[in-house]
Amino acid sequence: MNEKILLVEDEKTLAKALKFSLEKEGFMVSVAYDGEEALETLSHETPDLLILDLMLPKVDGYEVCRRLRRSSDLPIIMLTARNEDIDKILGLELGADDYMTKPFNTRELLARIKAILRRAGQLELAGRKTISMGDLQVDLIRHRVTVEEREIPLTSREYALVSFLASNPGRVYSREQLLEEVWGYDFCGDARTVDVHIRHLREKMEKKPAEPHYILTVWGTGYKFREA
Ligand code: CA
Repeated sequence: MNEKILLVEDEKTLAKALKFSLEKEGFMVSVAYDGEEALETLSHETPDLLILDLMLPKVDGYEVCRRLRRSSDLPIIMLTARNEDIDKILGLELGADDYMTKPFNTRELLARIKAILRRAGQLELAGRKTISMGDLQVDLIRHRVTVEEREIPLTSREYALVSFLASNPGRVYSREQLLEEVWGYDFCGDARTVDVHIRHLREKMEKKPAEPHYILTVWGTGYKFREA
């Protein structure tokens, strides 16, 4: 996973601890210590998600959010104090995706980040109708996969796995991440489940399953879909 998070937090100890926890989960994390720095960073970087403290020096979180929302639907999680106006934060005026009240549990924040990123990925997917890679086509409307216009018979799980990987070409996923993304948050499966499904997909899709062209193994890490 190489999703990028911009963390905007002026409490240095909290920022450092959060950065550490997020990086441990595989995220790439940049930190801005005030609103001005956040806007500056956002002018030349596009993170996948923003964690935004409300009370910040120079430009506060309200203003950062308001300015950002004029041109972007980047997912935003607000960090708030207990007495903030939640309706305003989540409402039309600011339009944050979620909020956490300080002090919060880091695991809870991680769960919300993942839920939001998953939702954002699904929305992105919903806007597209097909994914093409050479002779392979994934029809996201009909849930069909064809190779050289020949339909490949897939189970629903195989389809979910190949459409997920193909929607994020070049991005490397560990077996655990694929279990979480494709099998669902609560699935307590064996990572070998993923290997078995990948093997079946290759046998069905690839001309030479032992030398795969579409779903590539990243040794010691997991799998990725070939980039165009
Ligand atoms: Ca603060």
